[in-house]
Amino acid sequence: MSQQTSHLSKNHLAMFGGPKAVTQPPPEWPFFDDSDRAALNAVLESHVWGGYHSSVAELEKRFAEFHEAKHGIALANGTVSLEIALASCGIGPGDEVIVPPITFVASATSIARVGATPVFVDIDPQTINLNPDLVEQNISDRTRAIVAVHFAGHPVDLDRLVEICRQRNLVLIEDCAHAHGAQWHDQRVGSFGSFGSFSFQASKNMTAGEGGILITSDDDLAERARSISNQGRRTGGAWYEHQTLGTNARLTGFQASLLLNQLDRLPEQLQLRTDRANQLREGLSRVEGLTPTPATLDERVTMHGNHLFSIRYDRSAWNEVSRDQVVAALQAEGVPATSGYPHPIYRNQLFNEHPTVVHQCSEAEAYCQSSIWLPHNALLADEKWIDDIVSAIQKVQDAAGTVIAAS
Ligand SMILES: *Cc1c(COP(=O)(O)O)cnc(C)c1O
Repeated sequence: MSQQTSHLSKNHLAMFGGPKAVTQPPPEWPFFDDSDRAALNAVLESHVWGGYHSSVAELEKRFAEFHEAKHGIALANGTVSLEIALASCGIGPGDEVIVPPITFVASATSIARVGATPVFVDIDPQTINLNPDLVEQNISDRTRAIVAVHFAGHPVDLDRLVEICRQRNLVLIEDCAHAHGAQWHDQRVGSFGSFGSFSFQASKNMTAGEGGILITSDDDLAERARSISNQGRRTGGAWYEHQTLGTNARLTGFQASLLLNQLDRLPEQLQLRTDRANQLREGLSRVEGLTPTPATLDERVTMHGNHLFSIRYDRSAWNEVSRDQVVAALQAEGVPATSGYPHPIYRNQLFNEHPTVVHQCSEAEAYCQSSIWLPHNALLADEKWIDDIVSAIQKVQDAAGTVIAAS
């Protein structure tokens, strides 16, 4: 039986020893300068190394204000923040929570960790976010909440999800780990749901290495989340008085002081990433078979978080060369491309051992087969570097011309 397989031709490609198309690396992340050294030193010398340094309360106030919410609760990371958000809303055993399959695993494990059942519903193939029609169709008698993710920094359809939650009396929790500063209709994400949950882990667009925060405008939810994160203490209560089942999920002053500087830089970086993302979109419009998600920008998204630049690869425009081979060729050329999530998260072993509902997710499966990502720090480069990336992509596509017969 004879079969046609496709390969990249060896002409000039860096993966076969040719010259690299992109000679400079993208800007290093995280970025820091002397103001960060000074901020860390101030905490060091204060002798208040734990979660009660004044920078923690200042971060909570300023981050919440920036994201148009009344309260901020700084936390150890963006995973416990989701668990605490769910627990504060009273979600637990017997409850179902709808969640998308294209996200980091914590969006769903947090649901299982509070004893509830993750219910996976397919994505919209353009935004890669939850498809609101399918959310609506798959609400059951046990559905209590939706954990909606703003994948790559693109807000989910909040017009629809807010309305569905209002009509069906569901809790909306926004997982904003990709979406610091993103806006839907000029309103910052995280402020639409009962809680907005953010991560400050090293790869995110605001980071202290580790860290997280919840925002909410509900006084009672804020007090509950704060209490759970601080050993069940209550505001104004005695040190050894513990009213609820809590844990220790506090953020330190070292982290908060770094994050205050990161918050100062965020608006400028959001704009820079937007400009570079637009330049890249323009460049890719001249390359067949590589389409950003979504293909056309949604006017309701007045600020994209740009945590990832997400592209779909169509091998038919690349002479059937595999996505993974193209990613390897791009990496060799100096393009920091990756193939993204290997599979929808429900395919992880752990979900065989916990109650889970998986509705048909063919769009999520197709996305993982075709995705190519660029990281957010690539969008902090200068214009020339973005032009070089586009040239490198064109160089690799030119090499996709040769078809080799194999048996
Ligand atoms: C990173 C991430 C998290 C978890 O945040 P950590 O701070 O790493 O615990 C949750 N959800 C999404 C979508 C993420 O990307």
